[in-house]
Amino acid sequence: MISQGITVLGSTGSIGESTLDVLARHPDRYHVTALSAHSNVARLAEQCKRHHARYAVISETTRARDLQSALDELQCNAEVLAGRAALSAIARLDETDVVMAAIVGAAGLEPSLHAVQAGKRLLLANKESMVIAGELFRKAAAEHATTIIPVDSEHNALFQVLPANFDAGLESVGVERLILTASGGPFLHRMRDTLVDITPDQACNHPNWDMGRKISVDSASLINKGLEVIEARWLFNARPDQIEVIIHPQSIVHSMVAYRDGSVLAQLGMPDMRTPIAHALAWPERVEAGVKRLNLTEIHKLEFYPPDLDSFPGLGLAFQVLEAGGNAPVIFNAANEIAVEAFLQERIGFLEITSVVSAAMDVCETGKIDKLDEVLEFDRLARAATSKIIHLH
Ligand code: NAD
Ligand code: MG
Repeated sequence: MISQGITVLGSTGSIGESTLDVLARHPDRYHVTALSAHSNVARLAEQCKRHHARYAVISETTRARDLQSALDELQCNAEVLAGRAALSAIARLDETDVVMAAIVGAAGLEPSLHAVQAGKRLLLANKESMVIAGELFRKAAAEHATTIIPVDSEHNALFQVLPANFDAGLESVGVERLILTASGGPFLHRMRDTLVDITPDQACNHPNWDMGRKISVDSASLINKGLEVIEARWLFNARPDQIEVIIHPQSIVHSMVAYRDGSVLAQLGMPDMRTPIAHALAWPERVEAGVKRLNLTEIHKLEFYPPDLDSFPGLGLAFQVLEAGGNAPVIFNAANEIAVEAFLQERIGFLEITSVVSAAMDVCETGKIDKLDEVLEFDRLARAATSKIIHLH
């Protein structure tokens, strides 16, 4: 077997760590070519040592010297690169066959797109980049004949239960609807007026998944599911009316596909991201992921409810964003990133996240997107507008 070279963008995060865990189980199949982190120098150096990485990238350039010292101390000879351009460089390396996109937020867009343009297989956890530049990813993947394999558990589930030729159009392969499941987060069944004083730690205390803080807050507001609806639109060439969301508190059914003949196919598993990561790495083969096996007789019941759009208006907003198209997803995502950051720093309350995003959608100008530069410019403008809204608040 030829060993595949892997670049992990965002290796120190929750998805990055889980990816390295799966890779380490298969030293014959995979080797690490490059790892990246934003600021956690010590963890990145340890990872480079343990996984014999050839390149270590720190995106905060001011930390490059610290990274070099940390590597020297561990007697690790990974080459240090720094800055945003270095992220794209390790996505394009000749020695790399597969890129795991596990950076959080729009910061992950450029290296992920470069990976596709360099013909690499892209394992996509970084949903924000697909939300804001879905059309550019679709074009690049077609032009460079590469596959984008979703790692987000719902989309990975859909990828597993869709027919191989889904890209021809869902209707043409007999698919009626994509049913995305949502756990409902830590505030499931709560009325909106009980969520006023939620703290960042309460919002990040997810019942089923252990994730980074940004996506944890998104899960609590259901904006994560909104981002996933838009992500599904691009990954599966789906129309808005072909995407449905249902609440499933146990997070065992990761999503479902409803076919024209009344069949509904689902993918089930324990809520452990190593399953979709291992699936994406090995596809179309299957490898051990180190995950506890699902035993339904221990779980007893699987529940399903319609989402509560009154308590969690961010999900309804995402469907409007999808209908609007153009730069609306860019504004939605950028405003949410800024609002979540402000919430985590206790500058705004939990309920204000969605109202700030909604206000940003109202003030930002609409526009069309054809190029990466346009995405980046609309993203910049929306961030500035949102910061102003929060400041005046
Ligand atoms: P995290 O916060 O745990 O890790 C983020 C990683 O990105 C870290 O390695 C960090 O160093 C790096 N990073 C952060 N800001 C950066 C920047 N500006 N430039 C370069 N690198 C930067 O996040 P996570 O929970 O691992 O999520 C990563 C992505 O995967 C997100 O897009 C998230 O929505 C998606 N995702 C995560 C999960 C999960 O279970 N954690 C599930 C589905 C999808
Ligand atoms: Mg998900």
